[in-house]
Amino acid sequence: MPSHASTTAAPTRVDADLAYQRCINSRCAATLPVDRAVFSCPECGDLLDVVYDWDRLPVPSRLSDFEAKWSRRLDPLCSSGVWRFYELLPFAPPDRIVTIGEGQTLLRPSDRVARYVGVDNGNLLLQYEGMNPSGSFKDNGMTAAFSHARMVGARRVACASTGNTSASLAVFCSATEFGFKAIIFIGSGKIAYGKLAQALDHGALTIQIVGDFDDALMRVREVADRLGIYLMNSVNPFRLEGQKTVMYRVLEGLGWEVPDWVVVPGGNLGNSSAFGKAFQELKHLGLIDRIPRLAVINAAGAQTLDLLVRSHGMTWNSGLPDESISRAYYDRLDREQIRASTIASAIEINRPVNLKKCLRALEVCDGVVRQVSDQEIMDAKARVGAGGLGCEPASAASVAGAKRLREEGIIAPSDRVVCILTGHQLKDPTATVAYHSADQDEFDRVLGSRGVKRAGFANRPVVVPNELDAIIRTIGLYSDAPAPG
Ligand SMILES: *Cc1c(COP(=O)(O)O)cnc(C)c1O
Ligand SMILES: [Zn+2]
Repeated sequence: MPSHASTTAAPTRVDADLAYQRCINSRCAATLPVDRAVFSCPECGDLLDVVYDWDRLPVPSRLSDFEAKWSRRLDPLCSSGVWRFYELLPFAPPDRIVTIGEGQTLLRPSDRVARYVGVDNGNLLLQYEGMNPSGSFKDNGMTAAFSHARMVGARRVACASTGNTSASLAVFCSATEFGFKAIIFIGSGKIAYGKLAQALDHGALTIQIVGDFDDALMRVREVADRLGIYLMNSVNPFRLEGQKTVMYRVLEGLGWEVPDWVVVPGGNLGNSSAFGKAFQELKHLGLIDRIPRLAVINAAGAQTLDLLVRSHGMTWNSGLPDESISRAYYDRLDREQIRASTIASAIEINRPVNLKKCLRALEVCDGVVRQVSDQEIMDAKARVGAGGLGCEPASAASVAGAKRLREEGIIAPSDRVVCILTGHQLKDPTATVAYHSADQDEFDRVLGSRGVKRAGFANRPVVVPNELDAIIRTIGLYSDAPAPG
């Protein structure tokens, strides 16, 4: 389906044949210049990739060469954890780049979480993407998509969102001076408070439609196409270029060693797709000698990938996945009016737009897929919180998934496992407080209907009379108790 959303005047161009767009369908493989903004193949409607002519591009010969940029941190293109790796995503001229200091994130070991997952001390690492300016990994992708938007002269930018994409988009519009106008589409009643607060506070036009995320995404694609508005969802291949850098920083955090596993929650499957592309390119460039295994974790109430891959045997199939499988599944969702439903609202998605790219990533990374229940997600989230840096429910699917794979013997205790904490703890305080709350009614109201039956790791507030003796007694009991986990 051809689109008219492209903008014509490109103020500056990258040498057209060094970076271009290519349809992922191996039978089509149509190519487009890098300065088009259509976001689906004009020939066949499939997803597009950003591809590079690496032989003619200046790529460092060793990954550690990127460390030299640390000494030039006053240059925004060096302090950004995305653009520090410019040579690995060179689709935009440096003078078009839009950065707000994204990607300055951390890889931290947590032995408490290692014990919970069941791997050896030192082997469980949390990649904390909640440190991004808008509080989620989405900023890694937004900086790349905004740079492309600026490159093609776009002003109005739009997305559909379960919350974090819109928060990130709103922050990028408000924190930069390039005249970007934010338009965001959200479903009715399915957005965590922290994220909605960000969209409103940063001044985005916030359009709430009756329906869920899948409805909102279909609608925003139509609207963007009709009005020539630049689309910021992860169907935009430039976003995924930015998200590749999460993996570069993981390698950097490990002294450029490759971990055994990368475990990531799967929603629209942009991250998993980007990670697979990152490793495929690094291997092609000879910058790594092996590729880690990838585990993509669905929530049980939004388990499309898990069902398609494990129950229906869908694979990448050299660029020609059998689409009759996914089509039949989506038809069934429609027929039986099945809607995605999970406490992990960021992955409450039943029609992942990047499905095919994720299938490719699973092949490249010898990947596995699992689904975990809301109970497992909330328990894992509490263990992450007690063991270091907190996260929102969707992020904890990674830790719950690692635990499951460890129990199945697929992950070994001696494996080095990196779980991606995709979003900040304060994104969804409602879920956290309900889990820990002493108030059983509140717990049941917010979490009970989602299949969470018990708060196994609840840290309940202790109600104490306002009397000195009683308070001292309470602190004494706490101090004598064994430390958790
Ligand atoms: C967007 C998001 C996800 C899902 O990522 P995909 O790339 O869509 O699979 C997971 N966790 C958080 C916190 C998110 O914001
Ligand atoms: Zn095509």
